[in-house]
Amino acid sequence: MLNKEEQKILNYIQMLPILIIVFSIIVTYIIISDNNLKFEHEIKKIQIESINQKKDIIKSEVKRVYEFIKDEESETIDRIMLNIKVQVYEAHTIATSIYKNNKNKEKSEIIKLIKDTLRDIRFNDKRGYFFIYETSGKNILHPIQTKIEGKNLIDFKDTKGTYVIRELSNIIKDTREGFLTWWWTKPKNKNTEYQKIGFVKHFGPYDWFIGTGEYVEDYKKVLKQSILRKINKIRYGKNGYIFVSNEKGVNLSHYNKENIGKNRINLKDANGVMITQEIIKAAQKKDGGFISYIGTIKPTTGKASEKISYVKGYKSWKWAIGSGVYLSDIDEVILKERKKLEEKNEAQIITIFMTSLIVFIVLFFLSILFTDIIKRKFLLYRNKIEEKTKELEKTNKTLEDKVEERTKALKELSIRDPLTNLYNRRYLTEVSQKLFLLSKRNNTSLSVLMIDIDKFKNVNDTYGHDIGDKVIKLLAEKLMHDLRSCDVVSRLGGEEFAIIFPDTNIEQAKYKAETIRKEVESLKLDLIDSKKLSFTISIGVSSLDHKKDSDFELILKRSDEALYEAKKSGRNKVIGKI
Ligand code: GH3
Ligand code: MG
Ligand code: MG
Repeated sequence: MLNKEEQKILNYIQMLPILIIVFSIIVTYIIISDNNLKFEHEIKKIQIESINQKKDIIKSEVKRVYEFIKDEESETIDRIMLNIKVQVYEAHTIATSIYKNNKNKEKSEIIKLIKDTLRDIRFNDKRGYFFIYETSGKNILHPIQTKIEGKNLIDFKDTKGTYVIRELSNIIKDTREGFLTWWWTKPKNKNTEYQKIGFVKHFGPYDWFIGTGEYVEDYKKVLKQSILRKINKIRYGKNGYIFVSNEKGVNLSHYNKENIGKNRINLKDANGVMITQEIIKAAQKKDGGFISYIGTIKPTTGKASEKISYVKGYKSWKWAIGSGVYLSDIDEVILKERKKLEEKNEAQIITIFMTSLIVFIVLFFLSILFTDIIKRKFLLYRNKIEEKTKELEKTNKTLEDKVEERTKALKELSIRDPLTNLYNRRYLTEVSQKLFLLSKRNNTSLSVLMIDIDKFKNVNDTYGHDIGDKVIKLLAEKLMHDLRSCDVVSRLGGEEFAIIFPDTNIEQAKYKAETIRKEVESLKLDLIDSKKLSFTISIGVSSLDHKKDSDFELILKRSDEALYEAKKSGRNKVIGKI
C-alpha cells in the first residue's frame, strides 16, 4: 500500500492521460478550425477567381464583337468601292455584249437595247441602279429620275458645290474609269447630306460612261443589319449571348428576339436598377464597365436571374455591346469546387483526427505504463525502506536488549561479589535495613549469622591463593544451595560471610548455623594428586531484640562479637548472642 503523499503524487501522474486527452482535443480543435478557416478562405478565393474568370470571358467576348464591328466598319468604304466597281463592270460587260451582238442594227436601236437592259437592273437591296452619261455631260440613262434623260448635267453641283458630272467626265477622260465621292440629300430627307461614292467606266463605242453610286449610310445600314444578325447568333458557354442597345435604349440584339427593336430605356429590375440606362452609362466609359443587376431572362431557365454584365460602347454607331454571366452559373462552379474542397477537407480532418487519436492512444498507454512503473518503483522503494526500517528496529531491539542485559549485569555486578556471585556488603547493607524495618513493623524475628573460615591464612600459605579462592567458592556454593530464597547470603570480604534469616529467631538461627557448620566440616575440595582439602568455619549468631535494637548494625555487631567468641573458644563452633 502507498501512503497518502505517494498516492497524491501517483494521482497527479494518473491525471496525465486526462491532460493528454484535453491537450489532444485542444490541438485537434485548433488544427480542424484552422483547416476550416483555410477552407473558407479557399472557397472565397475560388469564388473571386471564378467570378473574375467569368468576367474575363464575357469581357473578351464583348471585345471580340467590338473588334469585329470595328473591322467591318473600317472596310466599309473599300467594300462599297469594290461592290460598285464589280457592278459597273458587269453593266459594262452587258452593254459591250449587246453592242457586239447587234452591230448590224441601227445605233439608236442598239442604245435602246442597252438602256432597256440596264434600266431594270437593281442591286444592293434594290438601292443600286446604273446611270449612263455621255462624256459631254448629257444624261443617257437614269432609271430613277427619268426626267433628266437627254439633259446635259455638266454644270450640275452637289450640295457641297462639287460638279459631280464634270468631275466624273474628267476622270473618264483622264483614266477611263474611277471613283468619286460626293454629298447628296435623299429624296425622303432633304435636310441632311449623305456621303455617296460613285464609280464610272468609259464605254468606248458611244463615248459614254456607265456608273453607279452608293450612299455610304445606306451601305452601313445594311452592314449593321448583317452584323446584328451575326451577333444575334453568337452563343458561348451555357448562357452566353451578346446584347446590343443603341443610345436611346432600343434593343438591337438580344437573346429574346421579341425584345429586338423595343425601346427598353425604362427597364428596371426587382432591386430598382435601371438596367438599360446602366448599360448605356457603362458604354459611355472609355474602356466599358461591369454592371450587376437581375437579368430579365436566363437562357437555360427562361427566368430572371442575377447577373454581371460587361458593356462596351461602339462610339461611332452609338451602340452599347454587352454580355453577361449569371451568378447562379458561377455558384454552380463554386458548388462543384466547394464539393471537391469539402471532400479534400473531410479527408484532411479524418487524417488529422486519426493521427491525433493514434498519438493520444500511444501517449495514453505510455502514461499508464509510466504510471505503473512509477507505482512499482514507489512500492519497491517502500518495501526497501520498510525492510531497512525493520532491520534497524531489529538492530535497535538487539542493542536495547544488550544494553538491558549489560545494565542488569552491571547492576548485578554492583550488588554481587565477582568471585562467589553472592551479594556483596553494599547490597547487604541495603537489604538488611529493609528487612530490619519490616521485621520491626511486623514484630517478627530476624537473625543474622556471621561466618568466617578458620585459619584461612594457612590454606593460602600451604596450597596457594588459587586454592584459597576455590575454598571460598566452595563455601559460597554450599551456603547458597542450602538456604531459602528469602535468606540473604552475602560475602562481606575475604573469607567472611553474613546471612540474614528473616522471620527466624535465635534458636532457629543457631540450629541452622550448626547444620551449616557441620556440613562445611564434611566438605572436601579435590586437590591434585587426589588429595582432599577440608576446612571449618566459625559462626556468630544474633537476633533482633525488638526492645533494644534501633538499627541493624547493632545486630550485626553482636553477631560479630559472637563470632569473635567462637574463634576465641577454639573455632569450628557456633556461638549465639542475644
Ligand atoms: P582465624 O580466622 O581462624 O583466626 O585465622 P585466619 O588465618 O583465618 O585469620 P584471618 O581471618 O585474620 O586471615 C584471613 C586471611 O585470609 C588473610 C588473607 O591472606 C586471606 N584472604 C583474605 N581474602 C582472601 C581471598 O579472597 N582469597 C584468598 N585465597 N585468601 C584471602
Ligand atoms: Mg577472617
Ligand atoms: Mg579466618
